[in-house]
Amino acid sequence: MSNPRLEIDCAKIAVNARLLIDKLKRHGIDVVPVTKVFMGHPKVAAMLVESGANMLADSRIENIERMRRAGITIPIMLIRSPMLSQVDRVVLNCEVSLNTELQIIRALAKAAKKAGYYHGVIIMVELGDLREGVMPEQLSNTIRQTLALSNIELKGIGANLACRYGVAPEQENMAQLAKLMLEVENQFGIRLQVISGGSSASLLWAFSLDQRSCVTQLRLGESIYFGVEALNKRPIAGANTDAITLVAEVIESNKKPSAPWGRRYKNAFGESPEVKNRKLVDQALLALGRQDVNPSGITPPTGITIVASSSDHMVVESVRKPLKVGQEIRFKLDYVGLLSAMTSPYVRKYFYQ
Ligand SMILES: *Cc1c(COP(=O)(O)O)cnc(C)c1O
Repeated sequence: MSNPRLEIDCAKIAVNARLLIDKLKRHGIDVVPVTKVFMGHPKVAAMLVESGANMLADSRIENIERMRRAGITIPIMLIRSPMLSQVDRVVLNCEVSLNTELQIIRALAKAAKKAGYYHGVIIMVELGDLREGVMPEQLSNTIRQTLALSNIELKGIGANLACRYGVAPEQENMAQLAKLMLEVENQFGIRLQVISGGSSASLLWAFSLDQRSCVTQLRLGESIYFGVEALNKRPIAGANTDAITLVAEVIESNKKPSAPWGRRYKNAFGESPEVKNRKLVDQALLALGRQDVNPSGITPPTGITIVASSSDHMVVESVRKPLKVGQEIRFKLDYVGLLSAMTSPYVRKYFYQ
């Protein structure tokens, strides 16, 4: 196997997907697995379908088209507002999209009409995290204008929290979403099929529910792949937290002084790291750099510390015994680590069952 590489255990991820689908079903909530961190990889998509998902979601049309080419036929939701320049591709490949701009919804309507399709729309509402969403006082106007469009089916409303400012989804903002839902239903005499309540950051709230909430759907990525809820990163009981590993190879190993010598300028990344002289250390270089992975998103095994990283090298120190050239080091990753390694063309991806 080549290095660096990602090892992705699909069987472990499937366990997590099933667990979350079952657990949330008891609260009346459908899980829509989000495939963006795997760039819509067909193996992951197929595994999620097999695990019981009846809809998938992705933020990028390229990933969705990739899943369609691979023969994924269940409905797919685009979870970033479509670009005006991509509406034709969106109506062809997605049953539903999350939306905030009337101009774009009108363009979707036009594209859908041209293609002879219907396109489902969920209007996102701003609940305080200040990323996507129409302001609550604008919602009624946006709904009215959306309902007037042909070839557009208003599926419901939704919200996203925790992404920009880490605003927690909880009783209070979810109650505001419920109130907005009721206002829309009463004002227009309609029933909203979908209340798309949030992401893996909503699980603490969802698991604490003792009765049904208005939320009918959560869009889950991180919790399925890492087995954790996204606010405190605590493991979910029964879920696998070790499905994904990054492997890198040692290319130099030496006892070296811990303090540099010679006149110092800023380093290759414009930093001047402080130095503490710790005498001789067991230093090794891994063939793993910032072109492969964001070093802040990976955790080395016990006994090994990451001390520096540049484009192509990672400098580590080992406290127990010196590493050997050719030795493989296995890292745990978080979402940031996985996102960067998945999108690096230098990292080989191995999916196994
Ligand atoms: C990425 C994304 C999600 C999934 O987030 P996770 O934290 O991975 O569960 C949900 N909703 C939107 C709008 C997203 O962009």
